[in-house]
Amino acid sequence: MTDMIQPVRVRFAPSPTGFLHIGGVRTALFNWLFARHHGGQFLLRIEDTDEKRFVAGAADDLMESLRWVGLTWDEGPDIGGPHAPYVQSERHDQGIYRAYVDQLLAQGYAYQSFVSPEEQEQMKAEALSQGLKSFRFRGPERTWTPEQVAEAEAQGKPYTVRLKVPLTGTTVFHDLIRGGECISVENDELYDVVLLKSSGMPVYHLAHLVDDHLMGITHVIRGEEWVPSMPYHVLLYRAFGWEPPLFAHVPNMLRHNGQGKLSKRKDDVATNRFWERGYLPEAMFNYLALQGWSYDDHTEIMSVHELIERFTLDRVQSSPARWNPDKLKDMNGIYIRSLSVVDLARSIAPYLARAGLIGSPPQAEDLAYVEQLTFLIRERLEELSEAPDLLVFFFREVEYADPLLLVQKKMDIPTTVRALRLAHERLQPLETWDEASVEGVLRALVEELGLKAGQLFGTIRVAITGRTIAPPLFETLTVLGRKRSLARIVRAAQVLV
Ligand code: GLU
Repeated sequence: MTDMIQPVRVRFAPSPTGFLHIGGVRTALFNWLFARHHGGQFLLRIEDTDEKRFVAGAADDLMESLRWVGLTWDEGPDIGGPHAPYVQSERHDQGIYRAYVDQLLAQGYAYQSFVSPEEQEQMKAEALSQGLKSFRFRGPERTWTPEQVAEAEAQGKPYTVRLKVPLTGTTVFHDLIRGGECISVENDELYDVVLLKSSGMPVYHLAHLVDDHLMGITHVIRGEEWVPSMPYHVLLYRAFGWEPPLFAHVPNMLRHNGQGKLSKRKDDVATNRFWERGYLPEAMFNYLALQGWSYDDHTEIMSVHELIERFTLDRVQSSPARWNPDKLKDMNGIYIRSLSVVDLARSIAPYLARAGLIGSPPQAEDLAYVEQLTFLIRERLEELSEAPDLLVFFFREVEYADPLLLVQKKMDIPTTVRALRLAHERLQPLETWDEASVEGVLRALVEELGLKAGQLFGTIRVAITGRTIAPPLFETLTVLGRKRSLARIVRAAQVLV
């Protein structure tokens, strides 16, 4: 399946700044599909050089999220690989980045800047007060002599290292997603971006680029929010004299209402929330693959295998994708319905166990009973976590918190009580307690009482489930069994009198 001469190597390089949201998973997934399509490698690298935004435990969480969706990496922090370590703070400790910064300094592509943040603010205020529309930092040190630099250093002044961006000319780059479109930026619109902080920590622009180079990354597939940074990256590749990888900036995922990017703060998009709520990883995988990519204008349900076979970057759209939780839910329902009875029971069981309805861990007899119940809910289940609520009356006695629910339209308490009593009387002597016999008896009773089917069935439904909306009635009665069904019908009549 490979049409690339060089083996494809791509990476997902998240920053552990909190939980991984599904937009991040989507980007990882595109990288993974691309790698698998080309028989290449997919790497995981943790970019934790921003100490201020670092969140302890986030790296483990995000690996768990990726694994849950079914993404596996060929090299990474937990499994190592030929370019270990795969965590940038560890690479920093080994002095990897500093060596490259020194190279840029020695060759005049970067310079030490002693301007403090306060001084920079002042420079900005002055520039703006002189009528400039925006401020683009260019340090006075650009033209300093080595002696001036040595003097400032000798005074122990803290410094950052900045890229010495050309003052004139244009920087050009291509993006695979935008049909190889050539994006060009005037250098006088850029500023001297920081490469190394005064703490000695490299910033993203430098660290990711050095790592992509050292790790032999062939394609950088990442969110389009990085497009504005591209000119700096192009200039850095040029300064190092390295062949850049190919770039594919994938479209953002917008919020449900289309207003702005999906937001960790405003939207319910933490990946772990989805497994808690009972999304199947296959459904999530399928849904996310369609966030900015499509195979054609109608195929939606695709297995991982099909997605691998079909995924190409030329089918990634340049327009943003829009997060649609309802659509994801629908898709989850489709995947739930495609599960075998045994698998569905196994998937539901942990939710029932957590709700205290069955043993934890579920025992064989729990699972056998849950298997019988799957038929009753598989058509309507969209999130596995809905199962305990839909099935609770199979495990717990019904509380008739609102007995008047038993009374259907155009009926009153006496007619309802009579219907319940007669239902009990007719059902009790049934020889076999199965769907057909139960249905036959109740339909005959509808005739006898001159009611509408919906009236009698509504009453019986509330009597045995405690609610107005429940799984199909005759199946429910059958699975619930004769004894429990009849006892509930009796109790329902009692609560009304
Ligand atoms: N650490 C960056 C992020 O979390 C990675 C961007 C990239 O893929 O280059 O967005």
